[in-house]
Amino acid sequence: MDIKKLTGKIYYLPHNPEFDRPLLGYIKGSKYNMMIDAGTSDKHVEEFNNGLLKNNLKNPDFVAITHWHWDHTFGMHAVNGVTIAHEKTNEKLHELKNQEWSEQAIKARVEQGKEIEFKNEEFRNEYKDLNEIKIVTADIIVDKKLVFNLGDVTAHIFHVEAPHSDDSMLIYVPEEKILFIGDSTSEDFYNNHYLDKDKLNSLIITLESIDFTHCLLGHTDPLKKSDILGYLNTLL
Ligand SMILES: [Zn+2]
Repeated sequence: MDIKKLTGKIYYLPHNPEFDRPLLGYIKGSKYNMMIDAGTSDKHVEEFNNGLLKNNLKNPDFVAITHWHWDHTFGMHAVNGVTIAHEKTNEKLHELKNQEWSEQAIKARVEQGKEIEFKNEEFRNEYKDLNEIKIVTADIIVDKKLVFNLGDVTAHIFHVEAPHSDDSMLIYVPEEKILFIGDSTSEDFYNNHYLDKDKLNSLIITLESIDFTHCLLGHTDPLKKSDILGYLNTLL
């Protein structure tokens, strides 16, 4: 898969459902570059970096994480650049890092209802050898909001209330009218796929208030503002 150009300063590697690999974003500043999400593994990061090279794009200086789920964070050990995550994301990564990742330990946690995703097909496609799992915490911890001036373009990273996870962060690039929203609009897979309509409504109000033309989600192609809001309103 090749890196695609969405606007003058926004690029992305499309999502790949076979390995549950989410879309990885890239903001090209005149001084610094930022990657959005760290992907599933070192292999996923390598695919991204090869795509950058092919398109004459520099390695990222910063990597912003949208939420803690494995497919967005287990590549963090392999990325170039300083990693940035919400404080709750980091707490969760710390917890995952200290867990045992053997076949037996995963099975026990699934049986106790503590884990849901680590037995699924896509995870197994990505991690045939569990010893390859490496989990690290982030370098910069965000509480509410952090703005990066990348040079002629800015990245506004901020925490939102969202139904998918309580550590959801959005990354807004006002100069390009682009918004990265990760999986924030989806239901909570760790709570029996429960869709909290109050949280969804709060997220819809946030999205409505932001001036963007396209948003980039974790597991689909980029969507227009009217399309994502039209869809989300049908869920209320
Ligand atoms: Zn997720």
